[in-house]
Amino acid sequence: MADVYREEARDLPVMAETDVVVAGGGPGGLGAAIAAARSGAQTILVESQGCLGGQATAALVVTWSSSWRGGLYGEICARLWKDGAIVKPTSGGTDVETVKRLFDELALEAGVSLLFNAWAAMPIVEKGRATGVIVESKSGRQAIRAKRVVDATGDVDLAARAGCPFHKGRDKDGLLQPSSLMFRMGGVDKSQAVEVGSFEDNVELGGGGAQDLARAYSDRGELPEFVRHTLVYFLPATGEVMINMTNIPHVDATKLQDISRAYIELRRQIPAVAAFLRAEMPGFKDAYVVDSGWLLGVRETRRIVGSYILSKDDVMAGRRFEDGIGQALFAVDIHDVAGDRGTSAERPRRHYEIPYRCLVPENIENLLVAGRPISATHEAHASLRVIPICIGIGQAAGTAMAMSLEDHAAPRQVDGAGLKRRLATMGVAFED
Ligand SMILES: Cc1cc2nc3c(=O)[nH]c(=O)nc-3n(C[C@H](O)[C@H](O)[C@H](O)COP(=O)(O)OP(=O)(O)OC[C@H]3O[C@@H](n4cnc5c(N)ncnc54)[C@H](O)[C@@H]3O)c2cc1C
Repeated sequence: MADVYREEARDLPVMAETDVVVAGGGPGGLGAAIAAARSGAQTILVESQGCLGGQATAALVVTWSSSWRGGLYGEICARLWKDGAIVKPTSGGTDVETVKRLFDELALEAGVSLLFNAWAAMPIVEKGRATGVIVESKSGRQAIRAKRVVDATGDVDLAARAGCPFHKGRDKDGLLQPSSLMFRMGGVDKSQAVEVGSFEDNVELGGGGAQDLARAYSDRGELPEFVRHTLVYFLPATGEVMINMTNIPHVDATKLQDISRAYIELRRQIPAVAAFLRAEMPGFKDAYVVDSGWLLGVRETRRIVGSYILSKDDVMAGRRFEDGIGQALFAVDIHDVAGDRGTSAERPRRHYEIPYRCLVPENIENLLVAGRPISATHEAHASLRVIPICIGIGQAAGTAMAMSLEDHAAPRQVDGAGLKRRLATMGVAFED
């Protein structure tokens, strides 16, 4: 057995008692907290970074895909569009500072109490029920007691520590999608530059196709081994773009050593990528690196096992469910787990629904999951993991928690069809 240090048991101060505590303030968590608070539940959100948004802000994943119908996501986009802080009405590059402020405002307007730089370290579980969270912060280790807990950590840290079953990666070998570190460049002449929005977009850059050139550079060792594609997105600010090109496979972002190795390697890749773009992309002659994400770009870690597991077949067929929480449409977008063969992106035939049961983990009561690690296969996860869908999942989780409090029933008992009807009254669009 590895060497162990036995920590002494000690009493923790209870910092707060609340109806709902949400751990993690990414798209899933902010959706859950805002929805729960708007429905009248006293809500605390615990976020380890200094802002809301998770990957969408701290990791600089500042380009959003239009993939969800209506609801809170629609509201967020309408406000960003009005402020000129999103490139298209419901998708595209966003202005990250405006987004961070908007998320604060929406949470505060709803009445959410925000705790930043606070780490949800452990769930409190009593008699099989989640009854709060232990928080680590500058103030030390404290407890928050709560009637309901939402795990929106992106990695289901709390559900996993509570003993809920989960899967990780592909069925056959557990390999996960690669990680990336987003970075922004400024000084770009957008009248000459072109957006390259997908691995399939081999747009001509003058010296060759965007994807062909990246592969050739990588083969010659002028781009890193696993950087074999070009992805460039325009942002609202003049001369600014976001680059999604750094790439590292074989990283399990639930492991400290892997996370640390990934930051170092991905930061090291940035100068070569910037040099490639300056050399090959029109309008990039004077372009410079503005900044990179201060949170690692993680596509996939754990996925909980709920009472329903969403499958690729559900996604591709555009399946509808009695307890569907909204309608999603995004490709099954799997970046090669070995890091060198690009991506496979299969597009569903029509919008599909996510059943509420995918948010309800096994083996615990009073805990729901919001965001990318809901109950789904590796393939279905590759579609539902995008920002708009995670906000929609969050809105459903928060609303379900409020309903369960109103009904004095466990979240597992919430009537899924009733939840669907209630979400529809909140602008979540169920069409065709
Ligand atoms: C490289 C890359 C490119 C992408 N491109 C796009 C794209 O073009 N369009 C799109 O729509 N989506 C894109 N995505 C997907 C999307 O960004 C994420 O899947 C989505 O943000 C997941 O939301 P989430 O809330 O589940 O998790 P996250 O965004 O990861 O949020 C989790 C939050 O929880 C916090 N947290 C974690 N653990 C704890 C803890 N123990 N205690 C307290 N807080 C904690 C984190 O700091 C974070 O704020 C991309 C992702 C990556 C990595």
